[in-house]
Amino acid sequence: MLDSYDAVVVGSGFGGAVAACRLAQAGLAVGVLERGRRYARGGFPRDWHDPLNGWVWQHGQGLFDVRPVNEVTVVQGAAYGGGSHLYANVHLRVPSDGFRTGWPAGYSRAALDPYYDLVAYMLDITPIREDQPLGLPPKTRLMREAADRLGRSAQFCYPNLAVSFKEPRQEHLNKFGVAQEGCRHCGECDIGCNYRAKNTLDLNYLAVAEQRGADVGTQCEVLRLDYDGDSYEIRYRDHVARQDRRVRAPAVFLCAGAVNSTELLLRCRDQYRSLPAVSNRLGHGYSANGDFLAFAMDTESPFEPWDGPTITTGIVYDRGAGEDRKWFIFQEGGFPREIAGLVQALGHRGGQAMDSARVWEDVAREIRELAEKRIASEGVVAADADSAVFLVMGRDRADGRVELMPVTHDLRVTWDVPGNLPLYDTEERFCADVAEALGGRLTLNPLWQRLRLPVAVHNLGGATMADDPAHGVVDGGGEVFGYPGLHVLDGAALPAATGVNPSHTIAAVAERNIEAAIRKLTSDPTWRAPERELATPVTDPVSALVIPTGGTAPPSSPAVGLRFTETMRGYVTRGTPAVGRLPRRRGRGPPCRYRGAVHVDHRHLVPRRLPHLRAAPGRGRGNGVRRGIHRPRRRRRQQRCVPPLQPRRRPGRPPDAVLAAVLRRRRPALPSRRVQGRTRPRHVRRLARHLHAVHGHPRGPPTRRRRARHRRSPHSRA
Ligand SMILES: Cc1cc2nc3c(=O)[nH]c(=O)nc-3n(C[C@H](O)[C@H](O)[C@H](O)COP(=O)(O)OP(=O)(O)OC[C@H]3O[C@@H](n4cnc5c(N)ncnc54)[C@H](O)[C@@H]3O)c2cc1C
Ligand code: SF4
Repeated sequence: MLDSYDAVVVGSGFGGAVAACRLAQAGLAVGVLERGRRYARGGFPRDWHDPLNGWVWQHGQGLFDVRPVNEVTVVQGAAYGGGSHLYANVHLRVPSDGFRTGWPAGYSRAALDPYYDLVAYMLDITPIREDQPLGLPPKTRLMREAADRLGRSAQFCYPNLAVSFKEPRQEHLNKFGVAQEGCRHCGECDIGCNYRAKNTLDLNYLAVAEQRGADVGTQCEVLRLDYDGDSYEIRYRDHVARQDRRVRAPAVFLCAGAVNSTELLLRCRDQYRSLPAVSNRLGHGYSANGDFLAFAMDTESPFEPWDGPTITTGIVYDRGAGEDRKWFIFQEGGFPREIAGLVQALGHRGGQAMDSARVWEDVAREIRELAEKRIASEGVVAADADSAVFLVMGRDRADGRVELMPVTHDLRVTWDVPGNLPLYDTEERFCADVAEALGGRLTLNPLWQRLRLPVAVHNLGGATMADDPAHGVVDGGGEVFGYPGLHVLDGAALPAATGVNPSHTIAAVAERNIEAAIRKLTSDPTWRAPERELATPVTDPVSALVIPTGGTAPPSSPAVGLRFTETMRGYVTRGTPAVGRLPRRRGRGPPCRYRGAVHVDHRHLVPRRLPHLRAAPGRGRGNGVRRGIHRPRRRRRQQRCVPPLQPRRRPGRPPDAVLAAVLRRRRPALPSRRVQGRTRPRHVRRLARHLHAVHGHPRGPPTRRRRARHRRSPHSRA
């Protein structure tokens, strides 16, 4: 890499590849910094026995960047070509009504269609069809039949896929002169296609960029951006040379993926203070795109999820109006034959009642042990053909927040699970319908089933587009407010959930915005991508579907279980008031709202963390309050805790009564100050003391002393 360029692109996913390609085509000197590796043909990891051998970014810079950030598990790609190496190839457009709210001026489906067409041309997208060399795989036929059985054939479609369906095992050159093969229907799309049948970004956009002279540095991780009023200095770590380096450019295109771009900007604004004027809206507007993962076990006919590209079909659900509207698309998934044992292990365990409050580390360990046993007993090729994966994504509220913890600067993502629960519930019931239509039974993703932690592969938002800095971080062209030349062109800039798989929209928005940026950089108001002339209008299968008046039919599977949701309103006090005493004066500190939800499903109880404590609009957050919410890390510390918040006295049940009732079922023992050599946090001890006083010790009836303590407890006065 050189010391300076006309433009530097950070990341090489859907935003980065588009930016690099177009900047190079415009004749600018472009440097691309990508933290991941460049994978050669046949070079993707395939060690089925060692999950650390090349798979995970956190261990030896592998392909998958999996980050369990408190309220959501974020999955992103780390490779030259970004998420295109592990995505399921689906390219769909946001329907017209999806642009009505949240998007800045100038965005509509009609305005974006020419750029969608351009992306479709570059990635050569097409749906799976009967007349292709390998025809339709069994799972595709079964999904068609299931949609018919459910009366949803009018909402069934074959999505466009960025896959080459030419003759398998035969090499051909693509539009850009890069050698590819036809799809072998091996089902390994989500772990890197070793046959180059996926039209991944390194085979088209990035190939053109390099052909036009772009300078690419892989395994180069950007750590910090500084602005001197004229140009940007980018500090990055070269993982190959094991050195920290710097490069300068007047234009920077940040395309590190929604969570990573937001994190980098947050660190620059709050930790290094090198970009201090970035909007206060940074981190707001995060969306998990309604992602929901489930499995169906014991399907009537062999589903053979490893036969065919990972996703081949979709069924749209659209019902309700206003706030109550639910819009999502259901897609069948697939997985390689070799991990069928692991999926079956999920199914075997997922159906059983289990201790409700296992932390996610336990879940992961248990799955690993079960999978190992199964692999050991039956061998890796003992695949069960009758299991299916269900993937659902939809329009969620996009009201999550990516932020850095004070002092430690650890990343955390706050995700409004209770607020999005109606969508997740409908998605779950829809999955149950499909499982039944396939003659199987539904098994949920264990992290969701036990902890209500969604797994998000379609992360969006965090540095969203808006018309002014009071509502977003970048303008409608992707340029950061207050920092000329600094652009965000990836999923972070999208201001609302796309509902459908988002890559097509990320790339189309990047095409639109890089065109405007290049016109500015080159002072050529007529510049446009050379391929615009070649791109022809493409039909989007989702937009062509018929939604009946009044919406699609509701799911027939009943909503099973009980949910308690309570909202406390109060105010924040700093420090920890003594147990049994109310603060002397009311109204101290900013007012806040605290919403908690406890879900009890038909299989077992899931007490959930109480994650949402918000200061009133315009007021700051009290750190003391937020410290009270935490994820217990050990089994012995599983009590869910009420934070040190003093609620206003209200008639009725104590504010934590529902939670307490749930915890009482688990019969928490009187805590000792020291557990496994560690002192319990004070608020855990206080809550347990309170519960003990209220409900008595599980080993004996309430004593006079306990009753007296109960009377002194602030909660007893409600
Ligand atoms: C299993 C799976 C299946 C999916 N299937 C689909 C699908 O079928 N259709 C669809 O539309 N979407 C799908 N997605 C989502 C899709 O992959 C993402 O929405 C998309 O890749 C996001 O594009 P992006 O440009 O925002 O970021 P990315 O594609 O994630 O690219 C970001 C790049 O930046 C790099 N980077 C990050 N930090 C740094 C740094 N500090 N310095 C340098 N480089 C950095 C990363 O390594 C990465 O290469 C799937 C995702 C997963 C995980
Ligand atoms: S099914 Fe196999 S060959 Fe086809 S695109 Fe996916 S990984 Fe490549």
